Amino acid sequence: MVALFLGPAEGKAWDYLRHRFINQLALASLPKDFPTFVREAANAERIQFLGGEPDRWRNQRDRALRHLNNPDHYFDVEYLEQYRLKTEQLGHFRYEFVEQMAAARIKHKLPLPNENADRLKGHPGFLPWAINEHYLKLVSAFSYLKVFEEMGTPEEIANARANVVYRMGILSHFVGDAAQPLHTTKHFNGWTGDNPKSYTTSRRFHSWIDGGFFNAINGHDAKALLAKVRAAKLVATTESTKDASGRFQYIMKYILGQNALVEPLYQLDKDKHLSPDTPAKGKAFLETQLTKGGEVLGDLWFTAWKEAPPDKFLQSYLAKRKLNKQ
Ligand SMILES: [Zn+2]
Repeated sequence: MVALFLGPAEGKAWDYLRHRFINQLALASLPKDFPTFVREAANAERIQFLGGEPDRWRNQRDRALRHLNNPDHYFDVEYLEQYRLKTEQLGHFRYEFVEQMAAARIKHKLPLPNENADRLKGHPGFLPWAINEHYLKLVSAFSYLKVFEEMGTPEEIANARANVVYRMGILSHFVGDAAQPLHTTKHFNGWTGDNPKSYTTSRRFHSWIDGGFFNAINGHDAKALLAKVRAAKLVATTESTKDASGRFQYIMKYILGQNALVEPLYQLDKDKHLSPDTPAKGKAFLETQLTKGGEVLGDLWFTAWKEAPPDKFLQSYLAKRKLNKQ
C-alpha cells in the first residue's frame, strides 16, 4: 500500500531548470538602481543555483529534516476545511497557526489522521509562512548590509553581500513553488476524492507539470518570456491587523490565486492541451505561471531592499568600535 505513504512531499514543484528560470526572470525585472552586485555573473549564477537548494534538503531521508522542511513547500488550501478554518482567520505567526489547528481538533472532536512519511498528520503545510519568514530574513540581510556599507570593513561588506545573495536564493525557491498550482492543493498529484469531471488521477501528473511536459516539448521559451517580464514594483502593506509582520496577506492572496487555477490545469490536461502533440495552450498556461513566479519574486526582492531599515543595533555597535579605535 505504497500510496498511503505518498504525501505532498512526493511532489517537488518546478524542477531545477524551472526554478533557475524563475530566478532569471526575477533578476531581469529588477530596476537599475537595485544593488548591482547581485547581477555580477557569479552572484546571479549563485542565486539561480540556490533556487534548487530547499529541494536538495528534501533529498535527505532524515525524518527530522523532512518534518521541518517538507511542509514549507506547499499549502493544500482544501485541508483547512477539516479544521473549520478559513484563510482570513489564519495568523501571521507559524506556531499560532499550529495552535489554531490543535484547538480546532479538540473543539470539533476531529479524529487525528494517520501520519505521513514526514511525520505530519493531515497538515495543510506552511508555504505562506515560509515565504513570509524568508522574506523577513532577506529584509534583515539588507538592513545590516546598508550599515556595513557605510561603517564596516571590506570583509564585513563582502560577507553581508554574500548573505543577501543567499537569502534571495532561498526565498526564491518558495515563491517559485507557489507559482506551481499543484503546490496549493490536496489534488497535488492526481485528483483525489469525488471526481465528477473525471480528471486524471495519475500519480505522474505532478512531475509532468514540474518539468516533464516542458522537457517533452523542448523546454519553455526563455527568450520571449525574459523580453516580456514586467519591472519589479513595491508590494504595498495591505496588512490589516496591528501586529502584522512582513507581507503575509499579500503572499496568501498570491497562493489563493494559484489555488484557483488547479481545476483549469486539470481541465487543460483532460482536453489534451498538456500533451506533447497539442501543447500550445498548456505551454502558454505554464509559461504564465513561470512569469508570475518571477514577477512576484522580483517584487519581494525589490520591496525587501527598499524597505529594509538600517540595523540600529549594528549602527551603535560599529560607532562604539570606531570610538574605541581612536
Ligand atoms: Zn519545493
